[in-house]
Amino acid sequence: MSTGILSIDLDAIAANWRALDRASASGVQTAAVVKADAYGLGIARVGRALAQAGARRFFVAVAEEGAALRQVLGPGPQICILSGHMPGDTEMIHDLDLTPMLNSLDQVTRHLESLPGLPFGVQLDTGMNRLGMEEPEWEAVAPFVLEAGPEMIMSHLACADEPDHALNELQLANFHAMTDGTGVPRSLAATGGILLGPRYHFDLTRPGVGLFGGRPFEGAMPVVGLSLPVIQTRVVHPGEAVGYSCTWVAEQETVIATVSGGYADGLLRGLSNVGVLWDGETPCPLVGRVSMDLITVDVTHLPEVPRSLAILGPHQTVDDLADAAGTIGYEILTSLGPRYGRRYVEGAA
Ligand SMILES: *Cc1c(COP(=O)(O)O)cnc(C)c1O
Repeated sequence: MSTGILSIDLDAIAANWRALDRASASGVQTAAVVKADAYGLGIARVGRALAQAGARRFFVAVAEEGAALRQVLGPGPQICILSGHMPGDTEMIHDLDLTPMLNSLDQVTRHLESLPGLPFGVQLDTGMNRLGMEEPEWEAVAPFVLEAGPEMIMSHLACADEPDHALNELQLANFHAMTDGTGVPRSLAATGGILLGPRYHFDLTRPGVGLFGGRPFEGAMPVVGLSLPVIQTRVVHPGEAVGYSCTWVAEQETVIATVSGGYADGLLRGLSNVGVLWDGETPCPLVGRVSMDLITVDVTHLPEVPRSLAILGPHQTVDDLADAAGTIGYEILTSLGPRYGRRYVEGAA
C-alpha cells in the first residue's frame, strides 16, 4: 500500500463531545456540527459515533449534507441546515425531515409558503455580517415568524476564539436585545463560545472543531493521525538540490526519504521547507517543495529508515501543522484528501 494512512479515533470524538457537553449546565443541550463531511473525517462513521455518544441535534451547512446525514442516522435526530431553505431544497427538506435555519425574509417566505407547519429555526446576524437576519429585518418579520413557532433562534460569534475581543460582548448584547422575551430556545455558542462561559450558552450549544481535537478546545483528545509511507530513499551530496525549483540544497551528505502524500492530499504547499514529520519521538525536517503526490524529508539523523513517517500524531496536532503552513486547523482537517486509507478506531475505551 502506498497511500498515507489516516486514523480517526471515534472514541476520542465521543469523549470530546461529552467533555463539551459537561462544560455547560445540565439544562443546556449540546448539538454536534458535522458540516463538510464531518470536518473531512467522514459523515457516516462520525455521525453514528456522535449519535451513540448522545447527540440528538446535528448541524450541517447545506441541505445535500443533511440528506446524506439522514441516511446515516435514520429518523429521529434533528438535522439543522445552516444555509437555510434555498430554491430547490423544498423536497429534500420535506422528504428527509430537515430543519432549515431561515436567514432572510426571502427564506422565511419560501419556507412558510411551501412547507407550512414544518419545523424551522431562525438565524440572526448579531455582528458577523455573514448569515442571518439583521435587526430591522428581524423586527419586521418577528411577529409572524414567532407565530409560526420556530424550533430555535440562533446566531454565530465572529471572534469567540479570542476571549478578550470586544465583539463577543457586543454580539451577546445584540442577541439578548433581539431575542429576550421570545420564549424560543436560543443558541449562540460554537466551540469557542462554549469556552467563553455560561453567559454564552443559552439553551443549545453547537460545537464543531472541538469534537475533532482542534483549537480553541485545549482539553480536546487528539482525534487524527496521519502516517505517510516511505517510498524511496537516496543520498544527496553537497551542492545537490531536492525537488521542484531547487529550493533546498544539501550542505552535507544527506539521506532523503521520499514519502507518499502531497498537496493533492491536503498537505499544503506552504509546508515546503518548513514542515516537520516524525519518526516516533524524532522530528525530521521536510526539505524542498511539497509536490502534488510526494514530500521529501531529511532522515540523515535516523539510525534506520522507517517504513513511514507521521505528519499528524501525538507530536503534531492539526493546529501545529496549520501553524507551520500559515493556516488554521479547520483548513487542515477539511483538506484531508480522498486518497488516504481511512482507519477508524473505536471500542478502545
Ligand atoms: C461551523 C459552525 C459552527 C461550529 O463551529 P466550531 O468553531 O467548529 O465549533 C457552529 N455554528 C455555525 C453557524 C457554524 O458555521
